[in-house]
Amino acid sequence: MILDLDKFPAHPCQTQCPECRQFVTTETSTSVSSVTCLICFMTALIGCVAGCCLIPFCCDRFKDITHTCPKCRVCIHTIKKF
Ligand SMILES: [Zn+2]
Repeated sequence: MILDLDKFPAHPCQTQCPECRQFVTTETSTSVSSVTCLICFMTALIGCVAGCCLIPFCCDRFKDITHTCPKCRVCIHTIKKF
């Protein structure tokens, strides 16, 4: 059970939803922010020189991770990579 938002891992975890007050296992999803797009673009430019195999790795690494309550669908916490 994790109640400290700063300690949320990058995978689903058990917590108390601040909205519906239920004990839930969060659902995680990755979202692409504008920063991610920018980095992907820059990586693509570098990738043209260094090899395109680096691009998917970098794109995934810089995505935000959002923890969502499975009952009321509220966004409990978002882990920012920046
Ligand atoms: Zn909830």
